[in-house]
Amino acid sequence: MLVKCRVCGEKVDRLLAYKVVVDGKNHYYCTEKEYRDLLAQKEVKDNTYNLINEIFGRKVTNTALFKEINALLETHTYEEILSYLQDNEDYLSRVMSKDFQSEYAKIRYFSTILKNNMADFQQKEEVKIIRDVKVDVSESKFKRKNKRKPLVEYEEEVGDLN
Ligand SMILES: [Zn+2]
Repeated sequence: MLVKCRVCGEKVDRLLAYKVVVDGKNHYYCTEKEYRDLLAQKEVKDNTYNLINEIFGRKVTNTALFKEINALLETHTYEEILSYLQDNEDYLSRVMSKDFQSEYAKIRYFSTILKNNMADFQQKEEVKIIRDVKVDVSESKFKRKNKRKPLVEYEEEVGDLN
C-alpha cells in the first residue's frame, strides 16, 4: 500500500515510510530526516513569531502580520527572517516602540523595514543550495532504479555457478 509523504507529497510504500502517530492518526514521511527537518522548520517559525512578539512588546494576533510575513517568505526563508530579527532586535524594538496610528500601520511599518533591509540578506545562496540538493536526491533515486549491475557482480554470480 502506498502512502503520501506529508512533506513532499511523494507516494511511498507504507512499510518503508517513516511513521509518526499524531492524535491517533498515522502521519507518513519518506524518511525520518524529512520529518526532523519539518520539526526544525516549525521551530524556526515559532521562534520567529516569538521574537516578533518580543519586538512588538506583546503578542501580535492581527492577521495582517501573518500576511506580511507570508509575502516575505516568497523571497526569504524563516531562517533568514529570524537571523535578521536577532541581529537587529534592539534597533527594531526601539523603532517599534514609537506611537503608530493603528496596529495595522505598525505592522506595515515593521514589514517594510524587513523587506527593505533583507533585500540583500546573505543567506540567499544557502536556500539555493538546499533546493539544488532536493533535485539531486530525486534524480539519484531515478538513476539507481535504472542502474545496471556493475560487471564485478556479474562475474561473482558466474563464479558462484561454477
Ligand atoms: Zn517526502
